[in-house]
Amino acid sequence: MNPFYHLVADRAFHRCEYCHAPELVFNFPFEVEHIFPTSRGGVNVEINLALACRLAFLTLFLITNWHQK
Ligand SMILES: [Zn+2]
Repeated sequence: MNPFYHLVADRAFHRCEYCHAPELVFNFPFEVEHIFPTSRGGVNVEINLALACRLAFLTLFLITNWHQK
């Protein structure tokens, strides 16, 4: 689990910060993702982190990485 999970999850009231889905209904912890990816110079600080459901996490990952091959 991301060491910032509790801080970010509490800040987001345990809801996805993209679609606002409540973490409780998914029955597993959401991902803590970097708003500005570390692969592009983003840093691992609270202000650059967001709580994301699996769908938002995968969508953002694909959008960020799909053309890098
Ligand atoms: Zn979401």
